[in-house]
Amino acid sequence: MRNRIAIAIGAHPDDIEFYMAGTLLLLKKAGYETHYMTVANGSCGSAKYNAATLRSIRSTEARAAAKILGAQFKPSLADDLEIFYNAELLRGLVAVIRDVKPGIVLTHSPQDYMEDHTNSSRLAVTAAFTRGMPNFKTAPPRPAGDYEVTVYHAMPHGLCDQLRRRLVPGAFVNTASVHKTQLKALTAHKSQQHWLDVSQGLNSYLLAMEDMALAVGRMSKRFKYAEGWRRHLHFGFCAPEADPLAPALGKNYMVNEAYERSLQQDC
Ligand SMILES: [Zn+2]
Repeated sequence: MRNRIAIAIGAHPDDIEFYMAGTLLLLKKAGYETHYMTVANGSCGSAKYNAATLRSIRSTEARAAAKILGAQFKPSLADDLEIFYNAELLRGLVAVIRDVKPGIVLTHSPQDYMEDHTNSSRLAVTAAFTRGMPNFKTAPPRPAGDYEVTVYHAMPHGLCDQLRRRLVPGAFVNTASVHKTQLKALTAHKSQQHWLDVSQGLNSYLLAMEDMALAVGRMSKRFKYAEGWRRHLHFGFCAPEADPLAPALGKNYMVNEAYERSLQQDC
């Protein structure tokens, strides 16, 4: 059994908009119930506000963004730069998974430029894996469930891993029809526009997302704006061939045949 429910799990408020929101919007259009969660609360994303003020500002912004995306908001579990692969965070995240019961988990690339992203990806994978194990206790307590789930990893920042190697998606999602809504959701993170311009030299917050969507679109050789995904190995999650984005998104989903050919076929 697979539920028509999807959850996007990012590291920081605005990561979902950068890497995953186009696909989340299309799943919503396809009739999926959608959920929005960032493991961290954005507490370090400003030199202007103290952490307490910023947590509150960014929670408000993230809630507004989730509303624009039509997704149910889930509160964060940690401060920025404190996303560690540990039992405490795992107990919190598994509780969320057991509440939501997703058939699709969208999360970061296991290779990415910063550890909050890679640790969020690892936590999301194990949280999905642990959905049906009653001996793993969650906080708050939630009963284990029995359902299939497929985990998809987004493209990393800059489309490269942390060792500067280019990564190629296993599939492309055509996000053109929802691109404006995705930008609108990113705009909800008002505190971040100035901060990223200053701290990371991005000319424009919105332009950075635009550039990434265009770059992945060019990789697809078919779509103007796209998001790229790599599907997690199925063991412990779902049937080997399960690729639920394909039936859900139809023409807006394209498997990258070159990537598929590059895989060892016995996996
Ligand atoms: Zn981030």
